[in-house]
Amino acid sequence: MKFAIVSKGDDRSNTIKTTMKEYLTEFTLDYNEEEPELVISVGGDGTFLEAFHRYHHRLDKTAFIGVHTGHLGFYADYTPGELEKLIIEIAKTPFQTIEYPLLEVIVRSKTGEKEDRWLALNEAMIKTADGSSVVLDVEIKGEHFETFRGDGICLSTPSGSTAYNKALGGAILHPSFEAIQLTEMASINNRVFRTIGSPLILPKHHTCMLRPMRDSSFLISLDHFTKIYTNVKSIQCRVAKEKVRFARFRQFPFWNRVRDSFVADGD
Ligand code: NAD
Repeated sequence: MKFAIVSKGDDRSNTIKTTMKEYLTEFTLDYNEEEPELVISVGGDGTFLEAFHRYHHRLDKTAFIGVHTGHLGFYADYTPGELEKLIIEIAKTPFQTIEYPLLEVIVRSKTGEKEDRWLALNEAMIKTADGSSVVLDVEIKGEHFETFRGDGICLSTPSGSTAYNKALGGAILHPSFEAIQLTEMASINNRVFRTIGSPLILPKHHTCMLRPMRDSSFLISLDHFTKIYTNVKSIQCRVAKEKVRFARFRQFPFWNRVRDSFVADGD
């Protein structure tokens, strides 16, 4: 089996990368950064997001796993203490996988020349580049829903619902739901402007189309990176047809991860 390792780049993560690479190669696995079937991220959730985006073009052929070298991560959920066991499990391939839904974002320009398609593992956040209010026409499944004015809009995946979405008051959604969640960022609500004010959970095929009502430059953050767009005609968001696959070598159910990350006192 072909594998690759993406390290956060600090000394601790690099040492773990070297150890894993050596042992797995000794087990006759093939280190291949071009066409890995398993990608191991070593670092934090940020490293995992980076690994996901590095290999997003071959999601059907690649499974992911994360080892954390800082505090417990949501994706990076293996501890350095589990390494030995993990290496042996990986060497015993084939492994089981579990799939989570992704968010698809298509940004179209007014001239019609440009169309960018992105996948997000956590979320997409749409804000203006100059910090002024975003004014967006929100269309759901082809029907006008509301005109949003405020700091911005966040669209998250179920596994990203525990990230920025949670900080915005969104619900935590189990990744078995093929859905995306729209949360508002400081919407303006008064006698003139009105938004729903609650997070919305959209099932598969319920496309959310955001159309700028003002000429602005937009900051579109996709997981850990941000793009600036001008001349935006529309931003289309929906559940992607692709999924992310996690290699599973032991049980760590989603709700246990939520508990351990946010509720348990760390004992
Ligand atoms: P980062 O390293 O500063 O990450 C911020 C925190 O978000 C870390 O503690 C990380 O473990 C956690 N995180 C990331 N994905 C998560 C998930 N799915 N569930 C629970 N926690 C998660 O920033 P980065 O490396 O640039 O990573 C970008 C991600 O960080 C973004 O996708 C965003 O969701 C998240 N983030 C969250 C907040 C917030 O909650 N207020 C703020 C900034 C970034």
